[in-house]
Amino acid sequence: MAITTTSSEALVTLLQRAEALGAHGLSFQHIALCPTRAWLHFHRLDCAHLNRHMQLGLLLHERSADSLIYGLYGLAPDRVDWHQREVSEIKKSRSHEAALVNQLLFYVAALTVATGQTWRGILRYTTSRRTKSFALDETAIQQLQQSLTALDGVVQLSSPPLRERKSVCRGCSYALLCWGESTDDEDD
Ligand code: SF4
Repeated sequence: MAITTTSSEALVTLLQRAEALGAHGLSFQHIALCPTRAWLHFHRLDCAHLNRHMQLGLLLHERSADSLIYGLYGLAPDRVDWHQREVSEIKKSRSHEAALVNQLLFYVAALTVATGQTWRGILRYTTSRRTKSFALDETAIQQLQQSLTALDGVVQLSSPPLRERKSVCRGCSYALLCWGESTDDEDD
């Protein structure tokens, strides 16, 4: 199914803004989780290699991601079904689902613009084997636009926004940097 002209124009503008800023899928997850994390990741201050759970995740991701997708707006989704036009993220639990959906919707937007066809996003949970499907409707497009505007504002700051303790800190790879805490014993 082809997307509407209005949606198509909005998506092209969104992707152009994202590309100009240097934002990619993870940026949309981070800005939904924590502005401090969004700033640190955007400015390449990564600590994921210090966390053994994230080391495993990075390794699994490298092995499973579809190489065809790399180079397209820096996309690196877990699974791409070109025939069904579905892009998937695979997670253990439903923690911080809204942020994952934000990232997934950006993948859907990029693939929709790149192919001129309608795509869907799928969240797949390995523990429960449940799946949830997400379409790129007007509300989703507005959410992405607002996220990008928020990200743009945050990353222009000369230093990271003040950290604030929140539930996501428990499994965040920046916990060592922000709070002097190791995240190696957390499974988020
Ligand atoms: S530890 Fe908490 S405050 Fe620091 S970047 Fe992570 S989520 Fe944000």
